[in-house]
Amino acid sequence: MRPRTPRISLALGALLAAVLAAFALPAAAAPAGDELEADVQAAEQDVVACFRSYGLEPPWDRLVDEVTVFPSPDEARRVLARRHHIPVEEIPPTFSGTVEGRTLYVISRDAYERLWRSLYPAAPWSEATYRQLIAHELTHKAHENWARARFGTIDAMGPAWFYEGFAVACAGQFPDQGPLMSPQALQAEIGGGRTPAGSYPEYGRIVRALAAAYGMEAVLDEAARPGFPDQLWTRARR
Ligand SMILES: [Zn+2]
Repeated sequence: MRPRTPRISLALGALLAAVLAAFALPAAAAPAGDELEADVQAAEQDVVACFRSYGLEPPWDRLVDEVTVFPSPDEARRVLARRHHIPVEEIPPTFSGTVEGRTLYVISRDAYERLWRSLYPAAPWSEATYRQLIAHELTHKAHENWARARFGTIDAMGPAWFYEGFAVACAGQFPDQGPLMSPQALQAEIGGGRTPAGSYPEYGRIVRALAAAYGMEAVLDEAARPGFPDQLWTRARR
């Protein structure tokens, strides 16, 4: 079945009302929009492929059907803070994307490249990096759908370090992380309900190691339960 085309809008500071209405651009007039649309469709397929690679049948049809693009993290923060009636400081200065309802809000490719190079100077920027950002945000939405379908609540997504690491792993971000962490190293870092120190790459490294040792389906299930991740240590290793 041919996927529906996501509608694409551009967030311009002076056009807040238009942004929130998420107006559609005529495709012929927006080559950047075409590229974005292709990235969103490819990222959706990446997320489906990721779930299937873990033996999970995706419990959704399409994840998003609208996309709003911001020219900078600050513009995104300004618009989203207004929309949610919260102080702009509550949205991190490194904001790069989110999905609300069936709309993807994301900063532009150029803005993300600038942010990436400042945040991760050691990690290479490639043609795939922006698509991976979109896949990361879509993975959160997919994880929400999965948690709701299986446990009836998005609280079942587990702690923030876990769902962020899951999104990093599913999106294929920071792939060059060396040998997998051993179960002993995992226990030292996250045992006893400890929150791992570090950043998204580290969360991804942990979740990749958990999936390799215990299977992602079991890990996702256990993340939904109290006592995570300590129940895992007694599970049969894969
Ligand atoms: Zn995230």
